[in-house]
Amino acid sequence: DQHIKDAEARNETLFTFEILPPLKGQTIHDIYSNIDPLMEFKPPFINVTYHREQVVYKRLPNGLLEQKVVRKRPGTVGICAALMNRYQVDPVPHLLCGGFDKEDTENALIDLHFLGVENVLALRGDGMQDQVYFVPETDGHAYASELVEQIVNMNQGIYLDDELINNSATNFSIGVAGYPEKHFEAPSLNVDVSNLKRKVDAGANYIVTQLFFDNSKYFEFVDKCRAAGITIPIIPGLKPIATKKQLSMLPHRFHVDLPDELALEVMKANDNAAVRQIGVEWAIKQAGELKAAGIPVIHFYSMGKSDNIYNIAKELF
Ligand code: FAD
Repeated sequence: DQHIKDAEARNETLFTFEILPPLKGQTIHDIYSNIDPLMEFKPPFINVTYHREQVVYKRLPNGLLEQKVVRKRPGTVGICAALMNRYQVDPVPHLLCGGFDKEDTENALIDLHFLGVENVLALRGDGMQDQVYFVPETDGHAYASELVEQIVNMNQGIYLDDELINNSATNFSIGVAGYPEKHFEAPSLNVDVSNLKRKVDAGANYIVTQLFFDNSKYFEFVDKCRAAGITIPIIPGLKPIATKKQLSMLPHRFHVDLPDELALEVMKANDNAAVRQIGVEWAIKQAGELKAAGIPVIHFYSMGKSDNIYNIAKELF
């Protein structure tokens, strides 16, 4: 098993990416057909996102709205097992505070440990759409730093009825999220970085950043983190823009800015094929510069479709 924390020791830039579990009702083959071409670039890890329940609304014949809570993309753990079976790759499931109490978390980690999964990305998750703020479960975690603490404790061994069980220690390598343009709830970037430091002090092994389109924001963020005493790897996360709609969706959902030059180019494009091409070229420029700077791992957000990631990786990895 490989750990992301060891990637820095290598003398090359590694390519990794993230996939989403398919929508309920779709099959694992939708995932495989997206991943198969990307294996050419030997990703050591594949991240698998976690999706908690969502509130959805349905208009009834009488005109009233019916509210339901559903999970549209279950299957994170099962997909990790499938990936290990099919590819020589270590899956990195995302694990949330939201929707989990401490016991749920411990059980989820035990499942992963039995499967041989040794990498996790520890996240808080967002509030449900009908919540302005994130609401932790009763006896759950309010911040990702607390989740990191729980995983670190498990790495020391599991307790049953207050007794430490012999040989029960796990060996999870723990990633956490970082935000070059600030997490949307943090009052300032410096406060956010000091909160990031809590996750590092709790035992996180590496950071993966939120997507960004301007490398200078990443480099400034790394400098800020280093000045704050954060020494672990900070893996940049990139996403090639792929549709005109994302011009407003990405800032709205991820709280990131697009550089004028990129936004104007996308606005001028005639169709989505042209937008995809602009996105690929921009990401090649970004990733090329990060690679030249000796960054040990570059992570790509695929959001389900991989042809553009393939075209980027073909140029660089
Ligand atoms: P935290 O680190 O807990 O931070 C949340 C906020 O609280 C920040 O504003 C921080 O500054 C503040 N804060 C932290 N500690 C304290 C403290 N002790 N006191 C006061 N304030 C504090 N979401 C999903 O649902 N599924 C996914 O699979 C998923 N994958 C992601 C992958 C990456 C690489 C990234 C960057 C994000 C991902 N997200 C995912 C989104 C993430 O869940 C949200 O951004 C969420 O709002 C914050 O999660 P966090 O782990 O960064 O939270």
